[in-house]
Amino acid sequence: MSPLRQIILNTESKRAFSGRHPWILVTSIIEPASKPQVGEQVDLVNSENKWIGRGLYNPNSRIRVRLYTWDSEEHITKDLINTRLDRAIQLRSRLANGSHQQALRIVFSEADQLSGLVVDKYAEHLVIQVTAAALMPFLDTIVDRLFHHYRPLSISMQVDERTGKSEGMDAEHRFLVGSAPSEPVTIEENGLYWNVDIVGGQKTGTYLDQRENRLAAARWTQPGARVLDVCCYVGGFALNIAKHCETKEIIAVDSSDKALQSAKQHATLNQLENRITWEQADFFESLSSKLDAGKKFDTIVLDPPRLAGSREHLQRALSAYHRLNFLAVRMLNPGGTLVTCSCSGRVSRDDFRDMLRGVGTRTRREIQVLEERGAAPDHPSCMSCPETDYLKCIVARIL
Ligand code: SAH
Repeated sequence: MSPLRQIILNTESKRAFSGRHPWILVTSIIEPASKPQVGEQVDLVNSENKWIGRGLYNPNSRIRVRLYTWDSEEHITKDLINTRLDRAIQLRSRLANGSHQQALRIVFSEADQLSGLVVDKYAEHLVIQVTAAALMPFLDTIVDRLFHHYRPLSISMQVDERTGKSEGMDAEHRFLVGSAPSEPVTIEENGLYWNVDIVGGQKTGTYLDQRENRLAAARWTQPGARVLDVCCYVGGFALNIAKHCETKEIIAVDSSDKALQSAKQHATLNQLENRITWEQADFFESLSSKLDAGKKFDTIVLDPPRLAGSREHLQRALSAYHRLNFLAVRMLNPGGTLVTCSCSGRVSRDDFRDMLRGVGTRTRREIQVLEERGAAPDHPSCMSCPETDYLKCIVARIL
């Protein structure tokens, strides 16, 4: 192989990259005089010309280089991608029991050393989500390997709007193997049936990462409880609680009409339609009006969308989490269960705990932590990339 172009770290960033974080931001490098193409393989060196890692360059992304290897002997080839895919698939085969067989995340980006690639499996259908334009030249390789392992009915590829903007790509969803299923794909999870819309749903179809947390919420809900599920999407927590627990009342809130329509269908599909009241509302408005009306609950689930998209938004997001949890804690009966989640990678576990400690102080309620949870085990996290530990889920008893 001919020598690769070298990208030089600026001196201030030198220390930050001893830790093998795969994202090299535009602010961390000295831009080369002539810019490499999207997907060009480059070597990252520090200002003393010490080799650090090898990655793929994207002149259109704030993440200028994504590193895939820290071994100078290794090149980013089809073989490397295949090896990484095999390793990711091998991990999931260890999880192949119960619900994991039906729907699971096969590849989780940086956590599987494949920055910019997510692959989810819904029964016989695979959905690839590409979040790095620089990986696109490997798409055929990826599809071939996935097909080799799973022989699925379809493999589709999606680029969402946000990735499109940040990576300089067009948002799209196309089928690379097979075609769009004419019906939603039915999967079983935690003893419930779900119809997953792999083309028009949020994320690649649904939120697989909360699978075990939904069961935990049901486990910690007391018989006879009044339950509030805030940001219910297609009913994940509400239906799990209804299925596994004798409740007095369940109210589930989301701002999306489409999500709620689907939630109602899931309630019917699982013969739980009489157990849940669905409400279309903004989470702050819904919580404030219930608090003003003197409503009380025994379990409240808070699963808002990602509130901190970037480091700059962190403080604003933490204030929003505080407000949300502050409202919820005040509505919980003594001994009630709070299941509070944050899927913002920028919010660390410590930040989230501190936020909750602040809520305890302000409400003068003791928050007794029962479980500190994360994403389901098919979403591992890597020490070198703390953002992969993005999902926080604290289950607490409010005294
Ligand atoms: N709890 C769900 C996943 C929630 S994802 C599960 O277990 O699958 C976050 C949800 O928040 C989405 O369904 C989105 O429609 C909803 N949402 C976004 N902004 C909102 C707002 N301002 N008020 C209420 N819901 C909102």
